[in-house]
Amino acid sequence: QKATKQPPLPSPLRFSKFFQSNMRILVTGGAGFIGSHLVDRLMENEKNEVIVADNFFTGSKDNLKKWIGHPRFELIRHDVTEQLLIEVDQIYHLACPASPIFYKYNPVKTIKTNVIGTLNMLGLAKRVGARILLTSTSEVYGDPLVHPQPESYWGNVNPIGVRSCYDEGKRVAETLMFDYHRQHGIEIRIARIFNTYGPRMNIDDGRVVSNFIAQAIRGEPLTVQVPGTQTRSFCYVSDMVDGLIRLMEGENTGPINIGNPGEFTMIELAENVKELINPGVEIKMVENTPDDPRQRKPDITKAKELLGWEPKVKLRDGLPLMEEDFRLRLGVPKNN
Ligand code: NAD
Ligand code: UDP
Ligand code: UDP
Repeated sequence: QKATKQPPLPSPLRFSKFFQSNMRILVTGGAGFIGSHLVDRLMENEKNEVIVADNFFTGSKDNLKKWIGHPRFELIRHDVTEQLLIEVDQIYHLACPASPIFYKYNPVKTIKTNVIGTLNMLGLAKRVGARILLTSTSEVYGDPLVHPQPESYWGNVNPIGVRSCYDEGKRVAETLMFDYHRQHGIEIRIARIFNTYGPRMNIDDGRVVSNFIAQAIRGEPLTVQVPGTQTRSFCYVSDMVDGLIRLMEGENTGPINIGNPGEFTMIELAENVKELINPGVEIKMVENTPDDPRQRKPDITKAKELLGWEPKVKLRDGLPLMEEDFRLRLGVPKNN
């Protein structure tokens, strides 16, 4: 029997030609707080196609609602502890719960996400030749004995504590990144992110800025955990996203600290929130959790020199922007 001529198969090459000059970017954890702001910024560039992979543990579709259905955007429900087979040019690997109450909720899952999740994303980067950026954390410095913390400081971390699933998990993730870089030539970037705040943080996620703002709006006491003299340095999310993109696009592997060096005690933070949002509210001292770092402030010399980056938004300017978002979500207008 004579073979009938088959129509040509749709060629994936023809499809990719259409996007030839486009950059295909995967953002893991893109439905979360920092990830969704990063997606907003990446989508502004018409040459970027953005794929988000997220298991929605702490993130939500709501954070990405303006992009769902957009031709350059794709959202995949995916857990990074499982294999992911796609084609991309860059990977921003953020997937991991960041708030202590969520990462302590299922610590074994947290460490799997950090270790197996990062291994999988490195395997993907290796297979397709993509550049990969890991969002590590200032928690790799533990309860630091050096202040402020430069990237060269190796940290003071409890390997068996309740925070270890997160901080030791991120330390292994950094090790994996460097071993894939040295052993397989993968292009890596590591950001050590310090406390970040801004719109879209989970309202009840237990982190200090979100707690204080929600409490002030609801007229509840601001819960300062003892002793209250512990310090943190808070970076507004737009500055953070700017730093992450500069790191990805630059020539340095890192690790590079990205954070705001403005340092506050938790009592000072509570006083600022009280003054800006609700002067009538009470400040209450409450119990703390184990292994709470006593001080934290980034040394950002490397970010300034290598990325030309430093934060622009001061805490007192960022807090009202977050207040606006929280009021909208809590349904409590300003004059109430
Ligand atoms: P977030 O909890 O809002 O976002 C994390 C996202 O990852 C969520 O959308 C969540 O659903 C997703 N996720 C969690 N586990 C996953 C898994 N196994 N598979 C797929 N998706 C998963 O947190 P964030 O504040 O946006 O933090 C983002 C990244 O930045 C994290 O890697 C975090 O460790 C790092 N970081 C954040 C801060 C901060 O202050 N926010 C500080 C240091 C480091
Ligand atoms: N992997 C992935 N997507 C890919 C390629 C690999 O998720 O496109 C995962 C895969 O599950 C593997 C891990 O990445 O377990 C590490 O991959 P690698 O090739 O480095 O190691 P191997 O497969 O040899 O263990
Ligand atoms: N904290 C506080 N009140 C709260 C929540 C947190 O005083 O309602 C303190 C906490 O003890 C810690 C600091 O704020 O010293 C930052 O805590 P967070 O959980 O926001 O971040 P991390 O400990 O990861 O820096």
